[in-house]
Amino acid sequence: MTEARPNDTAQESSHEWHDDGLADVVTALEHEGGVFHYRGWAIRYDLAADNPELSDSIPGEFGLVSIKDRYDIVVRVWQGVPETFRKAVLYHEIQEATIALGDADDYFIGGPQRGFMDKEDAHIIAERLHWDYARQHLSSEEFVAFQSWDAQLPRDGVY
Ligand SMILES: [Zn+2]
Repeated sequence: MTEARPNDTAQESSHEWHDDGLADVVTALEHEGGVFHYRGWAIRYDLAADNPELSDSIPGEFGLVSIKDRYDIVVRVWQGVPETFRKAVLYHEIQEATIALGDADDYFIGGPQRGFMDKEDAHIIAERLHWDYARQHLSSEEFVAFQSWDAQLPRDGVY
């Protein structure tokens, strides 16, 4: 897999919705929370979040958090999500965040307009990518269960 460098504008457009090793990183996570780097961002993740805004209506979310002189991406997966599916939800949120915001260098140096994509459009791409992730990283039984879990959520496409 080709890792586009932050200043490699030639690869930027094709870079937007590729995986860039994210699936391997997410699959290898051993802890419920921590920090790793992806597309120049520090990603702070929580796979068992109990924040009050999270529920089966909003089982996952992302945001930016100000850390001294920069921003990090924070991604939370609701603790009510069955453990088997949490990484697929996490994967979705990280893809959505980094597709919407672009690489960190684009965001901070070039301004949001370089990497920015409408969040709803980013969500649609992230959905396709997270189903690909789930198909590849869950057993067939788990995948079917994930589909059933997703289908019974109160609203569609909220994470
Ligand atoms: Zn989404």
